[in-house]
Amino acid sequence: MAWILGLTGGIGSGKSTASAWFSLAGYPVVDADAISRSLTYPGGAAIPAIANEFGADFITPEGAMNRAKMRELVFDDPKARERLEGVMRPLIRRASLEALERARSLADAAGKAFAVFDCPLLCEWPEARTVVDRLLVIDLCEEEQIRRVALRSSLTPERVRSIIRAQIPRQARLAQADDIIYNGGSLEDFRSALAALLERYLARAD
Ligand code: ATP
Repeated sequence: MAWILGLTGGIGSGKSTASAWFSLAGYPVVDADAISRSLTYPGGAAIPAIANEFGADFITPEGAMNRAKMRELVFDDPKARERLEGVMRPLIRRASLEALERARSLADAAGKAFAVFDCPLLCEWPEARTVVDRLLVIDLCEEEQIRRVALRSSLTPERVRSIIRAQIPRQARLAQADDIIYNGGSLEDFRSALAALLERYLARAD
């Protein structure tokens, strides 16, 4: 049966680039961020709980979470952020576990050895090791994280720094890893490192 590769790393470290690479190579990918967003789309499983916790004002006429309003609320209110996370966390976990079982079946049907779980907060999941069989951390130094995120979005360096501070510290994340790829070089270096890792995975005796 296919095993599950957990893929994680800090903001802007290269998780999506790595997932896209695995996906192109035919490995099913479950994207925890996409699952999280889909839960707050019209009719999403998180909508009743969000309405209950924050009020109907936080739901658009179409029945989605009002993202702009929620972003504004949680931006500098850690208590509100915790409440939102309290609502979302169990739903994301449940939906992710279901998606991972489907991904595992897809991998089995396609003759692939594993499926990938791209999850930025995986190291913050207490039960992560019961969900993934191997943990790959994409690592990057803070200055380069800030530079790359600034290139692709309008987030200021201060904002990226505060997101990094809210995430698990780099060393604590690295301490949980089975495999680490440092993505400080070129995209080509990164792809070569992924290809080398894949070769190692495929050579594993189990
Ligand atoms: P987030 O946590 O914000 O979802 P992420 O970890 O998924 O980010 P990516 O989106 O894969 O990271 O990469 C962040 C940005 O850096 C993207 O614009 C990507 O194209 C770019 N990038 C990734 N790897 C490299 C690299 N080795 N050299 C230059 N740019 C890179």
